[in-house]
Amino acid sequence: MEAEVLKRISRGIIMRTGAYVTNDHFMISSGRHAREYVEKRLVTTEPAFTEGLGEIVAAHFAASPVDVVLSSGIGATTLGHCVARAHPSRPKLLYAVKGKGKEGETEVTLPREFLPFLNPRSSALIIEDILTTGSTVRALIRLVEKRGGRVVGIGSLWNRHPGIKFSCPFFALVSQNFPTYSRDACPLCEKGVPINTEYGVIVGAPPRRVRGAPGKGPRSRARR
Ligand SMILES: [Zn+2]
Repeated sequence: MEAEVLKRISRGIIMRTGAYVTNDHFMISSGRHAREYVEKRLVTTEPAFTEGLGEIVAAHFAASPVDVVLSSGIGATTLGHCVARAHPSRPKLLYAVKGKGKEGETEVTLPREFLPFLNPRSSALIIEDILTTGSTVRALIRLVEKRGGRVVGIGSLWNRHPGIKFSCPFFALVSQNFPTYSRDACPLCEKGVPINTEYGVIVGAPPRRVRGAPGKGPRSRARR
């Protein structure tokens, strides 16, 4: 299937789960504002869709023998299950636990029960749901390499970092980022569009007040 068609179908499927929302006003985890939002918790709520997306990722890597599918995080592991189920090598599914290193960097640890499955003979396929900075994927690559294994590929539903490069084949169903704005330069705040409170992060500071309407800044939308 042509890459652009595949991307359109995948984005449509993700949108149908409610995980991809456009034409609204969101605050993302960095505190910046955006018109679009991808809510990773909702990406895997429809098992039939998740299985379908997992099959596409598995088909992409079908020619590579895979011993383990490795992920971290509940959403990524749910997708990882679907990829592992659909891959012709019938790999095992392992998940690592996320934490922070001394410098605040993302680190992952493999539960010791899984250690025998990731060894110098292992070919690993890493699965991520939404790739934003790539820090989790890089931590998973380090984990595989530390165990002496080999990463045969990285599969992701949505890559928000289109310029990202890895040393092994990387496949994302959708590769798209969207513009974000600082609070002071946000065109939606400027128009007084209320921040969507159902998605995104609501941090302390309210959006900036609209000029010429003192005391009547954009309100947060009430929950439906
Ligand atoms: Zn704004």
